[in-house]
Amino acid sequence: MQKSGKIRLPKGKKVAVSLGMDFDAQAIWDGSFNLLSPAYMSRGEFGAEVAAPRILDLLDKYNLKITWFVPGHTADTFPDICKEILRRGHEIGHHGYVHENPTLQPYEQERKVMEMGLESLDKIGAPKPSVYRSPYWDFSPNTIKILEDYGFKYDSSLMGNDLFPYYPRSVECHSDRANVFGEPSRILELPVSWFLDDWPQTEYLTGGQEGQRPAQDIYDRWLPSSITPVRWTERAIC
Ligand SMILES: [Zn+2]
Repeated sequence: MQKSGKIRLPKGKKVAVSLGMDFDAQAIWDGSFNLLSPAYMSRGEFGAEVAAPRILDLLDKYNLKITWFVPGHTADTFPDICKEILRRGHEIGHHGYVHENPTLQPYEQERKVMEMGLESLDKIGAPKPSVYRSPYWDFSPNTIKILEDYGFKYDSSLMGNDLFPYYPRSVECHSDRANVFGEPSRILELPVSWFLDDWPQTEYLTGGQEGQRPAQDIYDRWLPSSITPVRWTERAIC
């Protein structure tokens, strides 16, 4: 059975919102799509040079400190804005090196990517990250063990719950009998959801993802009534 946690809210608060940013910049076009032409690089450049400063100002306006998941490649290519993220008091989490898919990586390669990401974050002066987010929102069979070996405290890549953090387990998969879960990891999972991600809603990929949805569509998905219609706020309080 899944071992899940509760959300303890500060006194007087009734709702908790988890807000995170994946700062992929040019890394995603390289490591995830192998698209290195000037137009794709300019889309990554927009993210780093134009969008990120605006988002930082917006977060300041509402006095919000969040976690930015930064691939090592973004830290190496755009160090100034990454240092500015730190200077404004936000947390930086590990997000691979060049936005690789961990499920395709052999064990040694996955460890190497882990090292490369850590080195790049260290170079911009980030504290050793305690949180990881898989660039693909997916794990290889080795990922949990690697995260434990490197001392991560929590992860935000999986989808085994919606409102509550939980302790993820490895799954031994069988198509002819029941799957078998391993023991819960000591790493706390803060689950994600594609439903709440603005990437599929906004980004156009030629021949693939349509994106380009109106902002209102995205806003509507983020309303509590869209996520869990029944007693959402009550469930989140404990
Ligand atoms: Zn990403």
